[in-house]
Amino acid sequence: MNFKLKNHRLLFIGTLLYFAFAFINIHFAMLAMACMITPFILLVRDKKKTWCQGYCPRASLYTKAGKSPFARGHKTPKSFIKGNVKWYVLAYFSLNLLIMLGTTIRVAAGVMEPMNYPRFLLFFAFRGELPQLLPIASGVQWLSHLSYRFFSMMMTTSVIGLLMSLFYKPRTWCTICPVATMSDAALKGIKSTGSDTTGR
Ligand code: SF4
Repeated sequence: MNFKLKNHRLLFIGTLLYFAFAFINIHFAMLAMACMITPFILLVRDKKKTWCQGYCPRASLYTKAGKSPFARGHKTPKSFIKGNVKWYVLAYFSLNLLIMLGTTIRVAAGVMEPMNYPRFLLFFAFRGELPQLLPIASGVQWLSHLSYRFFSMMMTTSVIGLLMSLFYKPRTWCTICPVATMSDAALKGIKSTGSDTTGR
């Protein structure tokens, strides 16, 4: 137990490395897929939010930031915990994923130029590629397009989560994080299916 807790404190380094690696080569940004898929693999295996409870590097970063001298520690808004905000956030990021998928298919089909630049939310584009220490082009345009899109999504959620951790309680982002919202819904489904089966 202590081992897990100690490791969790250092997991924030994983988030910093993720962004650092994108400056080595943008294709490392595809590692974001692991952050999106692993929580659900662990959830199905353990029937609980194992990832969120002990392994999420971003939660570790928010905890760290929330304990810094800059943190204000205001109460998490009730609308985040009990209101519909988490559903709006889930809808927004689902739309974002659909757009990512659609544009990647269009780039692969050759009907669209790759958007090889980061974007904050869907609206603020930082025109220009990231500086690359190892500028190894994959030669596959859709892959660099998708890498930038994953980088943008990770940058957006990390920045918003960090700002929240500085203003509110450290893990405020976790109350509206799409992974948590989908995990809670899946757990509800798993539990109700379990109780249905037991009740028969
Ligand atoms: S809710 Fe999101 S940010 Fe928080 S621990 Fe889970 S996956 Fe990480």
